[in-house]
Amino acid sequence: MSHYVVIGAGQAGASLVAKLRKDGFTGEITLIGAEPVLPYQRPPLSKAYLLGDMALERLFLRPESFYAEQSITVKLGQPVTAIDPVGKTVTVGDEVIAYDQLALTTGSDPRRLPAAIGGDLDGVFVVRGLDDVDAMAPHVVKGKRALIVGGGYIGLEAAAVAAKLGVKVTLVEMADRILQRVAAKETSDYFRTLHSEHGVEIIEGIGLQRLVGTDGRVTGAILSDDSEIDVDFVVVGVGIAPSTALAEMAGLEIENGIKTDALGRTSDASIWAAGDCASFPYRKGRLRLESVPNAIDQAECVAANMMGGETAYVPQPWFWSDQYDVKLQIAGLNTGYDHIVSRLGDGQTVSFWYYKGGQLLAVDAMNDPRAYMVGKRLIDNGKTADPAIVSDPEADLKPLLKA
Ligand SMILES: Cc1cc2nc3c(=O)[nH]c(=O)nc-3n(C[C@H](O)[C@H](O)[C@H](O)COP(=O)(O)OP(=O)(O)OC[C@H]3O[C@@H](n4cnc5c(N)ncnc54)[C@H](O)[C@@H]3O)c2cc1C
Repeated sequence: MSHYVVIGAGQAGASLVAKLRKDGFTGEITLIGAEPVLPYQRPPLSKAYLLGDMALERLFLRPESFYAEQSITVKLGQPVTAIDPVGKTVTVGDEVIAYDQLALTTGSDPRRLPAAIGGDLDGVFVVRGLDDVDAMAPHVVKGKRALIVGGGYIGLEAAAVAAKLGVKVTLVEMADRILQRVAAKETSDYFRTLHSEHGVEIIEGIGLQRLVGTDGRVTGAILSDDSEIDVDFVVVGVGIAPSTALAEMAGLEIENGIKTDALGRTSDASIWAAGDCASFPYRKGRLRLESVPNAIDQAECVAANMMGGETAYVPQPWFWSDQYDVKLQIAGLNTGYDHIVSRLGDGQTVSFWYYKGGQLLAVDAMNDPRAYMVGKRLIDNGKTADPAIVSDPEADLKPLLKA
């Protein structure tokens, strides 16, 4: 019987094994995860779960019974330490497991602050896993002072939760503005205003010089302009790096992640990759996405291809972020945009449309599901939107879909 092994029991791994069974794979399936818990959704970690609004059980993608019913062997709590692509085996602890086909869904690792600048002090947290958030949550209480390092989506979401729980929050962003890497100035401005209305102090264009501590515990921070602030805990949200160490050791080609072809196959014909860890051909270059929709869609595409399919993976990117009472929904990829068309509703309901020349590339919609939905449909179908209609908040967007 053929044996498919999947390394990484996160969003992509769980989607991949489920899809194999759904499509009728009758061989053996083993899903191996380093974390000691069943595959779970990460987005609530910096949102409802950290806020205390979501129970642990609701984080899990599937109940334990699902894996048993589907005859999927799940091994948790131990990382795979080696792959032998010639002998076609993987090593977990003392066990060596043979595979016919292997998929890597190893996700990504959060960037941490170096110990030399206090990154190893107690009270310094990253937000990647359940263990990180469970360790941080007891500190996120009224009256504490938090420093958030990094003004990307994770840092801003953590700031929103902390502020809601009564923490005095300072956020430092080294770049000129928050969200600089991922969004237009208009979106940065919107979220800066939102946070300052909730009492979060956002400092842009200034980085962290170093953290200081007493008895191994963080007590303060010195910023790059030599100013000092007192803190009780620190949240580091300075990005992630794809988890490629295992693939590198196995000799697989790496290019901003584990390099795959359009089908999701790596440089080894029996090894596949999907999710945060994988970079795939896109237009004239390569792309690696860090999102739940990508993890699911790519993993499902790879599962079908592992069973003999020949479907190229074509992403239809979308993303979301929750901060206070604002739901941001993003459709498309804004890379290469040259101008923005704003649709200014009532101040809370706003959307920003990214264009390159006459072509619509992406939409950031705040509390505006209709703008998001219309924008997504247009972008997925390679269509554009008349800026005159987009910019008029009184104009109905739906006719754009028929244009
Ligand atoms: C706090 C937070 C909030 C987020 N919010 C959003 C959001 O709002 N919207 C959105 O679209 N995306 C969001 N994301 C991103 C999204 O969660 C990820 O893109 C998605 O989880 C990627 O899935 P994945 O399976 O590739 O990786 P992961 O879900 O990270 O799973 C990878 C798994 O592989 C395991 N692993 C790694 N190496 C080994 C090994 N050697 N052996 C065994 N197991 C191994 C890891 O321990 C991990 O459990 C968020 C992420 C975080 C951390």
